[in-house]
Amino acid sequence: MSSTTKVATSTSWDVRSIWKDCLSTIKDLLGPENNTVYDTWFLPIIPYNIHTNENGFPIITLQVPSQFFYEYLEAHFVNVLRLTIQQYLGESASLQYRILMDTSEENKPLTTQQLSTGIQTQPNKPIYMPLNINGTDTDRNFPNPLVVPGIQKVKIPSQLNSRYTFDNFVEGECNRLARSAGFAVAQKPGRTSFNPLLIYGGVGLGKTHLANAIGLQTKELNPDKCVLYITSEMFMQQYTEAVKNNTRNDFMTFYSMIDVLIIDDIQFWSDKYKGTQEAFFHIFNTLHQNGNQIIITSDKAPSEMKGLDERLLSRLKWGLNARVEVPDVSTRINILKQKLNNDGIVMPKEVVEYVAYSVNTNVRELEGALISLMAQSSLNKKEITLELTREMIDNFVRSSKQDITIEYIQKVICDYTGQSLELVQSRSRKREIVQTRQLIMYFCKKLTSSSLAIIGAKCGNKDHATVLHAYRTIESLLSSDKHIQHVVADLEKRFKQ
Ligand code: ADP
Ligand code: MG
Repeated sequence: MSSTTKVATSTSWDVRSIWKDCLSTIKDLLGPENNTVYDTWFLPIIPYNIHTNENGFPIITLQVPSQFFYEYLEAHFVNVLRLTIQQYLGESASLQYRILMDTSEENKPLTTQQLSTGIQTQPNKPIYMPLNINGTDTDRNFPNPLVVPGIQKVKIPSQLNSRYTFDNFVEGECNRLARSAGFAVAQKPGRTSFNPLLIYGGVGLGKTHLANAIGLQTKELNPDKCVLYITSEMFMQQYTEAVKNNTRNDFMTFYSMIDVLIIDDIQFWSDKYKGTQEAFFHIFNTLHQNGNQIIITSDKAPSEMKGLDERLLSRLKWGLNARVEVPDVSTRINILKQKLNNDGIVMPKEVVEYVAYSVNTNVRELEGALISLMAQSSLNKKEITLELTREMIDNFVRSSKQDITIEYIQKVICDYTGQSLELVQSRSRKREIVQTRQLIMYFCKKLTSSSLAIIGAKCGNKDHATVLHAYRTIESLLSSDKHIQHVVADLEKRFKQ
């Protein structure tokens, strides 16, 4: 290798002296037991130059003797490099490599393709290195053994739930995209275009199950990958603790070293948790730059995640947003069959179908209904018949704690009065239609926390005064009109939770 070190072109940065400082920090970080590692992998690096990108952030270019050398550095020491460089060049510094192919190519910059596999950043996407550069000496003392990456691979329990596998995740139209993307990610974590992979959809639809399945499968296929599952709440708690204990740097470093990071239920991060979001944003960038995989789940679509930082939201768009939906009835039947099969239980076909048809909210409730049914039958030593099922499920469906929605109220009342929702939402002034509409408004005001304006809007673009008028009309009829008393009592029973 040529020893003709290029002199820094930047007027404000002296690349050689900065690199000298970096080397001494790296040496300290590696410790005396790794002197050979240091000699082999760091001494041959030639500091090439430091320039700034369009945002004025410094980019240091390090020249390495071969592609292999570069790949090895990337795979084993990237975090050591990052942390050190950031200490000297600031939080927004980024790193780029020059590979010295042969002397004639000495000045040839890397091609974009080569760069895309490295940590070279696009000029408009600087790496945000997660280190407090204004740090004191203690910031450089990494008390946590985990923070000497590259030397020790992090060995941490993945926190995965071993019951949630791909094998017992039933595929249906409702989850096909999320499942197949997840499956692909597990084969090649960080190397598909599904990075990050966001799985979103209502509660109880299998997001946690799927996220765990991806983690388990990844570990099985890539035993050397460090996979970590964590709920957003736990992440938040850990972060708060870290800030309190002055160990934020360790926290950041730890997360920057995970190969496959799974964060469950990100919708819990609201405006209030700006610090946590900020930390995650940096971790996200680091992981993404390193080609590590990020998997996120959320109850809400990105567009509805109100408290989430715009920058984070924009990052979610880099990968795939896969929605899971309520399974259709045939998938529900398959899920029930699979659960019964796993437990070695046989149930009459009509029972399975009855359950699948009746419980149409989500898979968690479907499972709950099945468990109650089995418990009932074994407690009362009764055979599971359709009759027992009907009795039990009707109670179950009615007593399951669902938030009553305007749509649900509309459905129940329209079913009861036999009118179509379309007519109710129309401008019709026919007496029965008006009354159904008023009943809906009355129950919506009573049973939901929606504003009068929203109720009105959903009942055919009526204004809040109309809703209030409807409510008062029904209330006054209740004191005089036997028919209405009867209807309201009937409906109340149906809505009883
Ligand atoms: P979410 O995280 O979306 O709220 P979970 O992953 O916790 O939902 O799923 C709730 C329950 O339903 C879990 O016990 C899970 O195993 C089960 N479940 C969800 N979807 C499926 C599926 N497609 N196949 C089998 N079980 C499922
Ligand atoms: Mg979940």
